[in-house]
Amino acid sequence: MNKKYVIALDAGTTSVRAFVYDTEKKLFVHGAQQEVSQSFPQSGWVEQDANEIYYKAAYVLNDCISYAGAQNVAGIGIANQRETVVLWDKTTGEPAAPAVVWQCRRTSAFCAAIERDVREKITSVTGLVPDAYFSASKIKWLLDHCEHPRRLLKQGRLCAGTVDSYLLYKFTGEFATDYTNASRTMLFDIRKLCWDNDLCDYFSVSPDILPQPKPCDARFGVLKTSGADLPVAGVLGDQQAALFGQACLHAGEGKITYGTGLFLLFHTGDRCVRPQGGLLSTIGCAVNGKVSYALEGSAFNAGSCVQWLRDGLGFFESSAESERLARSVENSGGVYFVPAFTGLGAPHWDADARALFCGITRGTTRAHMTRAVLESIAFSAKELADCMERDSGLCLACVRCDGGASANDFLMQFQSDVLGAAVDRPVLRESTALGAAYACALSLGLADEEGIAARRVSERVFKPSPDRERYAALYREYKKAVARALN
Ligand code: ADP
Repeated sequence: MNKKYVIALDAGTTSVRAFVYDTEKKLFVHGAQQEVSQSFPQSGWVEQDANEIYYKAAYVLNDCISYAGAQNVAGIGIANQRETVVLWDKTTGEPAAPAVVWQCRRTSAFCAAIERDVREKITSVTGLVPDAYFSASKIKWLLDHCEHPRRLLKQGRLCAGTVDSYLLYKFTGEFATDYTNASRTMLFDIRKLCWDNDLCDYFSVSPDILPQPKPCDARFGVLKTSGADLPVAGVLGDQQAALFGQACLHAGEGKITYGTGLFLLFHTGDRCVRPQGGLLSTIGCAVNGKVSYALEGSAFNAGSCVQWLRDGLGFFESSAESERLARSVENSGGVYFVPAFTGLGAPHWDADARALFCGITRGTTRAHMTRAVLESIAFSAKELADCMERDSGLCLACVRCDGGASANDFLMQFQSDVLGAAVDRPVLRESTALGAAYACALSLGLADEEGIAARRVSERVFKPSPDRERYAALYREYKKAVARALN
């Protein structure tokens, strides 16, 4: 028997994917994917069906296990969309309410009203800025508004967790999570590595209904298949998985993921930096018995804006066509877009900001608008990078990129120009799945950290234009547009 395969499951927001990672060839040899639907029952609300996530995750996992042969699989690593809340019945495993997705703003009024002393406590304990984005207020909302989970709670049958913990429960029967996912709930002490009782009290979430937090390379549970028992030996939130998968293992190394949203994470070593300008401090990774921290900034909408041009406005048939359209004009013709469909995150944290196009004239075309949308993605990353440099004192010379929209060469070049830093795109762009595979392989002794760093290969490095003033001027204009989008 040759247990050389590790299966990585990436349970993302728009799709769940599983990949077979060959630890000898050091690459993915097979993959399977299923789209996951989202519903938008009210303005600013986003929900998913946890059952759909589970069934589709099971489907892609099965596909990969069949491909590899269960007896050849050493273990499974899971990476997942973070913060999204699932409540379920401990006895049946059935979801007790719709999953409230990270993008959902339904608790923004509640979060805006959190008292000053509690806000300070939240930031100092969890590293987060109090916001509807994180899990705590979403769990509270479900318990305040839905009868079924309340009844289960009274009967001692309620489990509350993020997507990783739900999938782990369904696959293995264990009720656990990892430190990176826990660090996104707004209930977790990122230094003491445990649930914080005061914050649990504040949000009326008993620690009894929360999963047990463990390091990313723990043995989380065992998935029993007809062919073999497969240990789940790696769990990370998707952004931390991408950071790890991009081999950002040392302070100062960072990446930007261009998916539905945009996420910039910079490794800060064992230093838990206290952020000043609206960024978050979060657990970067916890493997080999050590915990490392990261600074994070995110924009809620990035690739989703391209999706909107495609599906909402019918500008083109596939997201990839946005590149050709953007390149068909020399510039955006003075048009700016602010991607604030569901409010703005760092550094603005304005839940009520909404998206806008400005600078439209009679001569504006779809091409200008598409270009403005792609440029807005790069500008939002620039805003985050500025905060990052200020808070950490690190100077950003190079950033690694991944995620669906990182395939867009126009966007990556514009990003490099706006940042004034190199943007390095790896050959293996499934960084999230790679991070999950690495955590599992580390846990099972099939890889080590030096090997992971040596394995990363660049596909293309985008170098910044020497004309810094041109891009600085565009950025200044963008900031004016942002000021107009704020509530
Ligand atoms: P997630 O993990 O959040 O589900 P992905 O990393 O799969 O997201 O990226 C999907 C997003 O990337 C979609 O919103 C899509 O519109 C966008 N996207 C994919 N390809 C391109 C492209 N070539 N140019 C611009 N955007 C793209």
